[in-house]
Amino acid sequence: MAGNTPIVLAVEGLTVSFDGFKAVDDINLYVEKGELRVIIGPNGAGKTTLLDLICGKTKASSGKVTFADQEMTRLREYEIVRAGIGRKFQTPSIYENLTVFDNLKVSYPRGRGVFGALAFKTTGDVLDRIDSVAREIGLHEQLRTESGLLSHGQKQWLEIGMLLMQEPELLMLDEPIAGMSVRERELTAELLTRICQNRSMLVIEHDMDFVARIAHKVTVMHQGRILAEGPMEKVQADPKVIDVYLGH
Ligand code: ADP
Ligand code: MG
Repeated sequence: MAGNTPIVLAVEGLTVSFDGFKAVDDINLYVEKGELRVIIGPNGAGKTTLLDLICGKTKASSGKVTFADQEMTRLREYEIVRAGIGRKFQTPSIYENLTVFDNLKVSYPRGRGVFGALAFKTTGDVLDRIDSVAREIGLHEQLRTESGLLSHGQKQWLEIGMLLMQEPELLMLDEPIAGMSVRERELTAELLTRICQNRSMLVIEHDMDFVARIAHKVTVMHQGRILAEGPMEKVQADPKVIDVYLGH
């Protein structure tokens, strides 16, 4: 916690136990404003569960999550979204039969559910937001394209765009480049680097070249706990990390 940059997310003593098994075990994590933090670690380390706890999908057994000085731990999922935390799951959840434009439109915070949201009047504010988000995710030329016709990578970017429509202060992505082509991975690295200029990000990823390109800091999880944390070079050289993760 060096420097004067404010902490936007503070996770303290966070623990969840499933029938006595601690999938997340006494985690402390501090993310700064404008920081892009990557979480790595072997399968089953508790990475996804940690994001589930932060976004309220899973309730903590103990510990707390503070976001922008507000305690999140006992809030409901939609209240946490409203507080400014956006979360992308591993499988894309776009509306394949709607255009890119309409997918972004229904994600505008005013829209509640897909039908109500499509019916609301698209004012200048909404159009401006759709326009800037579409440019940001590189889908401006595809606004009128039915989303089901997009490439796998473009669908992932659209889903990131749907989250950006809500202007989250913290964006959490779980394995965003899984299944992407080399070119799509490069473009995603550029996209994430761009979008974290105005917000903080927590990204789970396995691809070490990708992690090295985007991470400000890396947190290594193992068996529900933090094994190591710091700049990529430091973490990569840590014998404990090589032993449980990078060596395999
Ligand atoms: P990772 O994302 O790092 O691969 P997960 O967070 O998905 O790991 O899982 C961590 C551990 O917690 C795994 O052993 C998994 O089986 C277990 N786990 C996750 N969710 C549940 C649940 N709802 N009930 C029981 N066990 C769970
Ligand atoms: Mg996972």
